[in-house]
Amino acid sequence: GTQNDVLVLASSGTGAMEGSVSNLTSPGDTVLVLTAGKFGERWRDLAKAFGCVVDVLSAPYGETISLDEVRQKLTPDVRCVYLQATESSTGARHDVKGIAKLIRARGDDTLLVVDAITGLGTTHFDVDGWGIDVIIGGSQKALMIPPGLAYCAVSERAWKRMETAKSPRYYFDFRKERKATAKGE
Ligand SMILES: *Cc1c(COP(=O)(O)O)cnc(C)c1O
Repeated sequence: GTQNDVLVLASSGTGAMEGSVSNLTSPGDTVLVLTAGKFGERWRDLAKAFGCVVDVLSAPYGETISLDEVRQKLTPDVRCVYLQATESSTGARHDVKGIAKLIRARGDDTLLVVDAITGLGTTHFDVDGWGIDVIIGGSQKALMIPPGLAYCAVSERAWKRMETAKSPRYYFDFRKERKATAKGE
């Protein structure tokens, strides 16, 4: 569902999650984390580790988040929204299409990052049509191949954000990775 460049990282899925925080944020940025279980809590902890101001919208385990609540939380200062497509720890599926629509209606200032580590291959995504900025997959979940690879498709909006994002990064530097990939390294 995307024409965006896809990075393949030699790491577990969490490496691509960390890279999606470190490459897209600066310390002090306000980000919105939608969480309804253990993997949502991982987004919260990662964003905190990189010094973001983390606004958390949570649903009880086993449930999903309503679009009305998301709309209310989308204040003008939100720079990135992080969520799961499917919260594997409970089995809940979030309305990625509906949430993407709310975010894209705001223009290009808010990025949408989707952990689809169990969503890719199990649910439908129109990544470019819906306007998802980063979507992450992992080899050992729905694809059922050995663990150790993470994939993420990155939009032009997200590449642009990286030009100004100041969080520290080294191994998971997406712009360096993109250059190396283009050279076949
Ligand atoms: C398994 C899983 C992760 C973590 O992936 P690892 O490859 O173990 O790092 C993150 N998010 C979701 C939704 C998962 O199911």
